[in-house]
Amino acid sequence: MDRRNFLKSLLTLASLAPVSKVTTAIAAPAVPDAPGKVSRRRYKNTALTVPMLGYGMMRLPRLNGEIDIETVKKQVAIAMKHGVNYFDTAYFYHGGESENCAGKVLSQYPRSSYMLADKMPVSRARSAADVERIFNEQLKKCKVDYFDFYLLHALNAGTWKKAQRLKVYEFLKKKKDEGKIRHLGFSFHDTPDVLKKIAEAYPWDFAQIQLNYLDWTIYRSREQYEILTRLGIPVIVMEPLRGGALATLNQSAREVFTRSNPDVSVASWAFRYVGSLPNVLCVLSGMTMTEHLMDNIKTFTNFKPLSPAEQNVITSALNAYQKTGIILCTACQYCMPCPVGVNIPANFNIYNTLKINGNQQRFNRSYANLGKKQQAASCVSCGLCKKKCPQQIDIPAMLKKVAAAKN
Ligand code: SF4
Ligand code: SF4
Repeated sequence: MDRRNFLKSLLTLASLAPVSKVTTAIAAPAVPDAPGKVSRRRYKNTALTVPMLGYGMMRLPRLNGEIDIETVKKQVAIAMKHGVNYFDTAYFYHGGESENCAGKVLSQYPRSSYMLADKMPVSRARSAADVERIFNEQLKKCKVDYFDFYLLHALNAGTWKKAQRLKVYEFLKKKKDEGKIRHLGFSFHDTPDVLKKIAEAYPWDFAQIQLNYLDWTIYRSREQYEILTRLGIPVIVMEPLRGGALATLNQSAREVFTRSNPDVSVASWAFRYVGSLPNVLCVLSGMTMTEHLMDNIKTFTNFKPLSPAEQNVITSALNAYQKTGIILCTACQYCMPCPVGVNIPANFNIYNTLKINGNQQRFNRSYANLGKKQQAASCVSCGLCKKKCPQQIDIPAMLKKVAAAKN
């Protein structure tokens, strides 16, 4: 390797390593491990400890098109047994059914044994009265009289303006003073400068950001993490696997991981990456399959941060993955529904599968199975979806790519 490439590779490693110079205001210190339980972190300097793994209720198991409540019950029992007692739901998840599911399943446990996080859908609220109506509806659906963690959902420059106009923070602060919210924060999808403005506006208890080894630089998650750390705001991580993509990657990236350690899953690398950041309080994962839950429990039990050598392994795998030319969609569905019926994430999913495995016949088959209405070629480029994508994907342009991939 010549000197220029050597320096370049050092820079890449330095920018990817989950290491931040900002350590002065760590708000989530580690606590000693308990046998058979996932590791926990302390919420600031309080008595409250939070499991490093949180049970996300955005991608629950389904059966015949509905949430498979019996499987959720079994998963929650396993989670609780291993100390995974942080549950994260939202008004939008599963068309509103996630909150109902949280209520049905968690109400079987003593209220003090679990922590529940829910979110105010700022984009949906039309008035201050609407905010109050939604909040009360959420308490009822979740069968609780307080939320442990409550967030203004998916803040960005636009929703932040709306939240200020509707005085959402002020309303929720009142609920906190009444004891109906224990910790008040926000989830976020926008640029670091917008985050800074929001984070400095109020004394937030925590913030939830998209953080993983792919987004550390390309989504500027590192800057976001550092802004929050500097302000002493603990970080909850969403999308640690970037919609599942970092659990599968492509063959050459997977081989990098397997060569390094054949005994652990590809997903475990991504979880350890974010868990290695000291100001991360909890890492959320939507564990649709029970085997994912078990694997994640294994990763977070006696949690071990990445060594410098392991960070280098992630860098090599990421380099191999980025060569595929995939579309960086997390399948969050925020862009849906499309007025003409295009199934945006499904098109991106089959396109990414093509990029990863090169199987043109399979792509053609999956594309045909979508049906004409849902296919990328039906997009009329109205641009409605583009404004809603937290990943800032140029959806109409990418759909043209998908449509052109068919032969
Ligand atoms: S740009 Fe295309 S995919 Fe997006 S909302 Fe309009 S028609 Fe649907
Ligand atoms: S295109 Fe954007 S908004 Fe739509 S599912 Fe993908 S990441 Fe989410």
